[in-house]
Amino acid sequence: MWLTRLRQITFYRTLRFRLASTFILLLAFVLTAVGFAGTKILRSILENQSEQIVKEQLGALKPWIHFDDSGTPYWFVDRTDPEEEAEVSRLDAVYVIADEQGNVRLYSEDPALDPLSNRQAILSNIQKIRETQEPVVQIITGKDRAQYQIVSTIWTDTDHHRQWYVAEGRSLTDDKKILRQFEYEFLVFLPIALIACAVVSWYSAGRVLIALQSVQRAAERITGSNLGLQIPERGAKDELDRLIGSFNEMSGRLKSSFEQIRQFSTDVSHELRTPLTAIQGQLEVALFTESEPEQLKVAIENALEDVERLSSLVKALLLLSQSESGQIPMHKAELDLNELVGDFVEQFQIPAEDNGVRLVHLTSQPVCCEIDRTQIERVITNLLSNGLKYTPAGGWVRTSVEQDGQNVRLIVEDSGMGIPRDHLPHIFDRFYRVPDPNPEKGLGLGLSFVSAIIKAHGGQIEVVSEVGQGTKFEIILPSGVARETAELPTLNA
Ligand code: ADP
Repeated sequence: MWLTRLRQITFYRTLRFRLASTFILLLAFVLTAVGFAGTKILRSILENQSEQIVKEQLGALKPWIHFDDSGTPYWFVDRTDPEEEAEVSRLDAVYVIADEQGNVRLYSEDPALDPLSNRQAILSNIQKIRETQEPVVQIITGKDRAQYQIVSTIWTDTDHHRQWYVAEGRSLTDDKKILRQFEYEFLVFLPIALIACAVVSWYSAGRVLIALQSVQRAAERITGSNLGLQIPERGAKDELDRLIGSFNEMSGRLKSSFEQIRQFSTDVSHELRTPLTAIQGQLEVALFTESEPEQLKVAIENALEDVERLSSLVKALLLLSQSESGQIPMHKAELDLNELVGDFVEQFQIPAEDNGVRLVHLTSQPVCCEIDRTQIERVITNLLSNGLKYTPAGGWVRTSVEQDGQNVRLIVEDSGMGIPRDHLPHIFDRFYRVPDPNPEKGLGLGLSFVSAIIKAHGGQIEVVSEVGQGTKFEIILPSGVARETAELPTLNA
């Protein structure tokens, strides 16, 4: 019992039912309004037309009414003439002629039209006509319950110096019939139209929803193993095709994100395994060289080096997960970027000399901007250490800082080994390293941080490189307004 009721409720809540019923209700409302308006307009047209006809009849009556010597009105008609008879029969169906005292002298002798000869009504009409100097138009109900439209006026018989009240009218029965016919046809048409529209809208809503159901079914089928599932488009280029398109795009994005995560886990486990294996090896060596303190010391030192590498990897992963979640606390302040870069160039002089690389900072005037000191220091350190790492002895690394309108430009360039063109688009990806026969120890994370930090500052980073010639990193940062925290975009997004 409650299950049936639940099904009923679910049916009323379906999109198909709601779409179709809203359309039908709206249509019913519009059609009813049109029906009412149509009836009203038709009634007023018929009334105006009828008034026109009655006024014409009143005018046409005059030549047929004559007055005898005593001033009494009578019809002056040759009833044997069919033309005259036809004309007069149109006029004498509904009429009355009365004197100024309201006494009826000539009238259509139809008992249904008694109200037309009512003396009180005649006197009141005479008064109205005299006051307004206009004919009186009225609708009366006869004893046959039919309605008649009547126009009355006053004629002056100049020969006998008398005035006459004259009323001419016509039955509205035909007009009412037309009106009723219209109403009847409309009442028949309304339900037929509504039923036809209900069927059509139910069918078309169903067709539209079939496509939606295919999206729903596809969404239900998606699992970790078939991410990237695509729904075929219908080719209708409508909203549903756009929805299917968005769904397919989303599914593609999900697939590539999952693949990135999978790749990331593989990279991380690989990165962790290498130093762990090395530590294990060193510790085993240490165990067997107990008796020789010198070898034991070397083994422990090597193990410590690997522990250090492991710890820096874990630290980098921690930072990476922070940036992956989109938030790194930013504490911006106005700083002289030129001075900051200059200080780091000073600090890197010793390793540069060790590598036989000339490291110079070219700018001398202050260039102020609002930046997060810690984050930008990380950027400078990464770029400088890469410059030194990938520049062979005898080469140079140069830095400069310039003001460029609303932006500042930080340039770090070197005369090093350069980056092959194929690898350039990937160097900002995490764990990405250009294959090198003599690889230095690097995590392949440095440039992903640089890129994320620059994006978080609302800036951009560009790289130009030529193999064997050198590499130029150019960072553009807005001089900017301070923000307490900034969203850090996902790496490789
Ligand atoms: P890594 O820790 O390996 O240096 P990065 O993310 O800093 O990682 O750099 C990614 C890769 O980009 C490096 O492995 C290197 O091949 C290349 N690269 C970065 N900077 C330079 C440079 N100045 N000259 C040549 N190659 C560079």
